Amino acid sequence: MELFDVITDLRGVGPKKAAALKKLNIHTLEDLLFFFPRDYEDRRACSAIGDLKEGSAFLIRGTVDLVVKDKYRYGGKQRLRVLVSDDTGSLEVVFFHAVYLKDKFRTGSEWVFYGKVSRNFGKLQMLQPEFCDIEEESGFRGIFPVYPLSQGLSQKDMRKWQQQIRSLCREAKDAIPQKLIKENRLCSMEYALQNIHFPEEKQKLLEAKYRLIFDELLILQTGLFAVRQNIKTGEKGIRISKKVDIQPYLGSFSYELTGAQRRCIEEIEGDLESSRAMNRLVQGDVGSGKTAVAEAAMYKAVRGGCQAVMMAPTEILAHQHFEGLRKSFAAHGIRVGFLSGSLKASEKREILEQLKDGQIDILVGTHAVIQPEVEFARLGLVITDEQHRFGVNQRIRLKEKGQNPNVLVMTATPIPRTLAVVLYGDLDVSVLDEMPPGRQVIKTRNVTGEKREACYDFVEKQLQQGRQAYVVTPLIEDSDTLDLKSVQTVYEELAKRFAEYKVALIHGSMKQVEKDQVMQEFYLGEIDVLVATVVIEVGINVPNASVIVIENAERFGLAQLHQLRGRVGRGRWQSYCFLITQSQSELAQKRGEIMQSSSDGFFIAEEDMKLRGPGDIFGTRQHGIPELNVADLAKHLKIMEHARQEAKKILAEDPLLQKEENAELKRRITKLFGEDMSLNL
Ligand code: ADP
Ligand code: MG
Repeated sequence: MELFDVITDLRGVGPKKAAALKKLNIHTLEDLLFFFPRDYEDRRACSAIGDLKEGSAFLIRGTVDLVVKDKYRYGGKQRLRVLVSDDTGSLEVVFFHAVYLKDKFRTGSEWVFYGKVSRNFGKLQMLQPEFCDIEEESGFRGIFPVYPLSQGLSQKDMRKWQQQIRSLCREAKDAIPQKLIKENRLCSMEYALQNIHFPEEKQKLLEAKYRLIFDELLILQTGLFAVRQNIKTGEKGIRISKKVDIQPYLGSFSYELTGAQRRCIEEIEGDLESSRAMNRLVQGDVGSGKTAVAEAAMYKAVRGGCQAVMMAPTEILAHQHFEGLRKSFAAHGIRVGFLSGSLKASEKREILEQLKDGQIDILVGTHAVIQPEVEFARLGLVITDEQHRFGVNQRIRLKEKGQNPNVLVMTATPIPRTLAVVLYGDLDVSVLDEMPPGRQVIKTRNVTGEKREACYDFVEKQLQQGRQAYVVTPLIEDSDTLDLKSVQTVYEELAKRFAEYKVALIHGSMKQVEKDQVMQEFYLGEIDVLVATVVIEVGINVPNASVIVIENAERFGLAQLHQLRGRVGRGRWQSYCFLITQSQSELAQKRGEIMQSSSDGFFIAEEDMKLRGPGDIFGTRQHGIPELNVADLAKHLKIMEHARQEAKKILAEDPLLQKEENAELKRRITKLFGEDMSLNL
């Protein structure tokens, strides 16, 4: 048996189990070994039956007094009750669909049980426990791992397999330098792997965990540093002359810039004029006016003799930006081009040519702009809008289109400073903390089932006044046909209800031209009600829309609801948001309260984290961070800072990780970030 053997080489793993394991991303024995428990069952102590309390799990030893098979099915289930006792008391042990156990539990025989104790009609009972013969007790006691499993796998399977591959712990190589292990008195890899799966005691488990967390964070940090090695601040970049005056452009806005926008634009100007490359994050809540800031930056770059590119996460948003920029820049003689995967081959060829010989000044597009065939003549500024929607490598690849161009990333997703540093390195941050004047607070209401009609009556009144409405339904993009039906159903229902108005549908699996057509019509006011999936989530800007209804609101995260709500209230009209939910649970109410009482994206995101608890606490996956195994970016900040320092040192000595001693580290980085990650290693 070897670490890199495929999982099917393991005894007891057939095609079915292998398929279930694959869903957990377990393909090799190494993957299995690095699949860690989420929790442990402490089955060391044996409890007296008289001491049991409801709500927790216990291990007991008892003699069978009586076995009863129910005559009738109990809630549809065949039930077997086993009465067991010890010197201190007796307890009913209950099994379902296991009548065959009747013969096993002979009166007077002694067994060990482990299971959760609950109360039924005043009496304590243990439901569906694991059990063993008194002879096998030693193997049944101890600390047992509990794995985060998916359908088709049992804890028993997993424990058995982990036991089978225990000897492989010895084969796992150290990903971190020996020096670090010694300096930090970390336990060995073998010890860590042994004890994460089968800890003998708590202290050993803690040591094991620490080692594995440190490993994982070091791998993450080194990987992140490696990807952005050439974004080091202080590096010479493309410099734009101080003489380039952006006032003519700023003067052409139809509104006054906010103080925050002006400050942010000044900071960007400073960056562009300095000889080091700009690396700036603009953070501003939905509707704070990030686009205007980006436009000012692009104007400066183009007037300074460079090309600029702006990448957006969805076709709809990219296209909207393109239309907007084309109009505003036309008056200044600046040429804007559009690129996305859905262009015809001939159109694409033309754009690429014009880009290469510099006839296009600004390119706007989806991630199509990072394809290898896209070449610029003199790229000086790259902008990523809604950057949290992109992976680390996509951002890097955009930057690599130029020679150390200036980088501007924009996001509405709040991110704590500590994490920003981890993700983006030492970048500068500008915050747009001021909304354009005249924005009214969007009135938000929670609506339960029976009030739904009244809610659509309200929508109708808005339509009568000439406003437009969004109706959003949850849908997992491009996948679930069942869900697709739900958006379709809502559309049909509303098309009937609002027969005098134009109702349209937009979702992710429509062709791009169709989507563009619908968006264009909605933008021009030809469509009154737009029934949509979350394709409209980011960036869409139709100021005349004053009401948004979100169906099945419980299926969205709060931060996402906030984004969706931000589609309205973008003009001078009082705007409204209705959150329709079927759930009356406490959690649903809490969520509703938060949405009703706050319009502050940072606050909402924080509350969202609290409600959802740890796990994907910062929405790290949204930020392009790979999924971690044991480390938790929210909890392990100290270890992370330490790992960060060490990662820097390692790369300072061996920037491409070419030394033999770093081979395993390099392999693990590639593994964590995925094969397609261009790590430049
Ligand atoms: P976001 O930060 O969410 O990307 P946008 O840039 O799309 O926001 O701007 C939202 C809306 O606010 C747009 O209609 C834009 O024209 C308008 N806007 C931006 N800045 C101002 C301002 N200073 N005063 C008034 N309206 C503004
Ligand atoms: Mg935007």
